[in-house]
Amino acid sequence: MINQQTEQNYQGILNRYGQLLQLPAHSQRVTLLEGNTPLIPLPRFVDELGGGFEFLIKYEGLNPTGSFKDRGMTAAISETLGAGSKAVICASTGNTAASAAAYAARAGLKAYVLIPQGKVATGKLAGAVAYGARVIQIEGSFDDALTLVVRLSQNHPIALVNSINPYRLEGQKTAAFEICDALKKAPDWLCLPVGNAGNITSYWMGFKQYNDLFGSGLPKILGVQAAGAAPLVAGHPIDFPETIATAIRIGKPARGEQALQAAEESHGKIIAVSDQEILSAQKRLAQEGIWVEPASAAGLAGFIRQVNAGHIDPKGKRIVTICTGHGLKDPDTISKNMPQPDLIPSDLHILEKTILGE
Ligand SMILES: *Cc1c(COP(=O)(O)O)cnc(C)c1O
Repeated sequence: MINQQTEQNYQGILNRYGQLLQLPAHSQRVTLLEGNTPLIPLPRFVDELGGGFEFLIKYEGLNPTGSFKDRGMTAAISETLGAGSKAVICASTGNTAASAAAYAARAGLKAYVLIPQGKVATGKLAGAVAYGARVIQIEGSFDDALTLVVRLSQNHPIALVNSINPYRLEGQKTAAFEICDALKKAPDWLCLPVGNAGNITSYWMGFKQYNDLFGSGLPKILGVQAAGAAPLVAGHPIDFPETIATAIRIGKPARGEQALQAAEESHGKIIAVSDQEILSAQKRLAQEGIWVEPASAAGLAGFIRQVNAGHIDPKGKRIVTICTGHGLKDPDTISKNMPQPDLIPSDLHILEKTILGE
C-alpha cells in the first residue's frame, strides 16, 4: 500500500507514514528509527487452542526505548521542537517517561516527568534518569500526576506530551498501518491492553483511516484492562487502582470515551482479566522466547479468556495481539518470585551431577 522500504533505508515512522499523519508543517523530525516492529506467529499456541486459526504477536517491546510509546513520542517531540518549545513534561507509569526522556534528549529539550511514588518499574525509572530527565515522584496516583502536569503545561511554556497531546495519537496510528501493510489487510481481531486508552484510540483511528484510503477492512477490537484497574468495564472511575501490571494501573483514563467507542464501533469489547491471568499469559509468551512486562501480556490474557468462555470463536480467523512493552524494564515481577540460582563449586563432576541428576 504505502511504499515498502527495505530495512537498509528504514528511517522511522514519520518518514514512512508522515503524509498520513495530521502533523503541523512546522514539525522538525526527531527520530530514533522507531516502528517497523515484527509480527511473530505463535503456531504452538494455536495448536493448544485446537488449531485452525492464525495468531500473531506485534512485538512493540522492540521499539528504541522498549515500548510503543516511541511511536507517539517521535510525533509529539517533532511538533514541539518545531514550535520552539524548550521543555516537555509528562505524567507516567514509566514507559512514557522513558520515551519522553529519550526523544527530548535526542531533540536537545529538557524533560520533566512525574511518576506515582513507588509504583514505577525499576528499569523504566532508570531509563528516564539515564536519558537525563528530571524525575519527580508525587505522593499520589498516575491520575493525580496527570492532573498536575495538565495544569502546569497550561500556565507555563512547557509542552505536554501525554496522550492528551493529539500528535501522540497520530504517531501511534502507524502501528495499525504497519499491520495492514504486512498482512495486506486488517486482521479479524486486534487484542491489546488498555490503560489511559490512548493506544486503543490510535489503533482504531489508524485502521479506519487505512480502510477509507485503501479498503483494508476493520478488525474487531478487544481492549483488556486489569481487574483491579478496570474503569471502562466498571463504568466509573476507580479511585485506588491496583494491579501488578503497572503500565495499566490507571483509574480514570484520559481517552476512556474514545476507547469505549472503538470497542463498540468495531463490534469488539472491553473486558477485565485478573493479575493471575496476566502473569500466566506473560509466562506463556516467555515460553515462546518473548519476554514482556505484565501489562503487555494483558491482550493475550484477554484473548484466552474470551476463547475459553466461548465469546470468541477463532476458527478461520486471523488474530493480532499487541505486546506493548519489553520485559527487560520490569525484571522485579520475575526476580521477586525467583529462587537464587544454584551455587556450585567450579568443578566438572559436580556440574555433571547437578545437571544430569535432575
Ligand atoms: C502505556 C502502556 C500501556 C497502556 O497504553 P494506553 O495508551 O495508556 O492505554 C500498556 N502497556 C504498556 C507496556 C504501556 O507502556
